[in-house]
Amino acid sequence: MNNQNVVLTLIDGPTLLIEIGGLRLLTDPAFDPPQSCDSAGTTVIKQAGPPVGPGELGKIDAVLLSHDQHLDNLDHSGRALLPTVNRVLTTIAGAGRLGGNAEGLAHWQSTTFPLADGRVLTVTGTPARHGPVGAEVKTGDVIGFVLSVDGAPGVYISGDTVWFSSVAEIAERFEIRLAVLFAGAARPRGPFNTTMNTNDAIEAATVFKNAKIVAIHNHGWAHFVESQEDVVQAFTWVGIESRFQSLQRMIPVEFELSHTMDRTRPALTHQLR
Ligand SMILES: [Zn+2]
Repeated sequence: MNNQNVVLTLIDGPTLLIEIGGLRLLTDPAFDPPQSCDSAGTTVIKQAGPPVGPGELGKIDAVLLSHDQHLDNLDHSGRALLPTVNRVLTTIAGAGRLGGNAEGLAHWQSTTFPLADGRVLTVTGTPARHGPVGAEVKTGDVIGFVLSVDGAPGVYISGDTVWFSSVAEIAERFEIRLAVLFAGAARPRGPFNTTMNTNDAIEAATVFKNAKIVAIHNHGWAHFVESQEDVVQAFTWVGIESRFQSLQRMIPVEFELSHTMDRTRPALTHQLR
């Protein structure tokens, strides 16, 4: 692997292995088998589990946990994994609840990982809102992350959030070349989305204009209303399907962070059909 690149391997749901700069990072670990369970007062139904267990992934250097309070983002086996990794980055409230090796990041706060080759990976906490305006008091704190090696163009991981103005601000602060969107249009609590839907993913692709887009956290639970295929259909309809990379479980995909997207592409509005 070129050391400017990043490799993503989707495990399932929100659980993604990210290999960057020689480090192996895992997002929201969830490995439990299918079941019906109570998550923060809501019954949620898991329909499918990942094809591997946490013990089959090899050494994990750190977990990037968007939030700890929902079972689809951190389940029982995922929670058991946390003490086995060096660092767990999550919300400040979540770090307080988890204790141990969990570290809380405020929005826009950064921490660093020294890399074996002398470079430094910076991880910055990014704003996230887990539903419509006002959802914060119901769904609790959530965080996303930007990963950047030595200030080079980086990777955005949305965590459980809808599209809103503070997510757009990430594009003003960072050059993003790969955006990992939690885009299953989750509706566990009523007729409103608590994660991104296809419209949100198109907004993200428009604002993160030099980024390849991938969508995760859209499979395995009954409360996901939209799938990866829905994002493909929506991107195709507005003519930006080349911006999207599909992920299949357990198939590693390598992304260049140094590439620049084609800036000559006509504006989105001219491609509607
Ligand atoms: Zn959640």
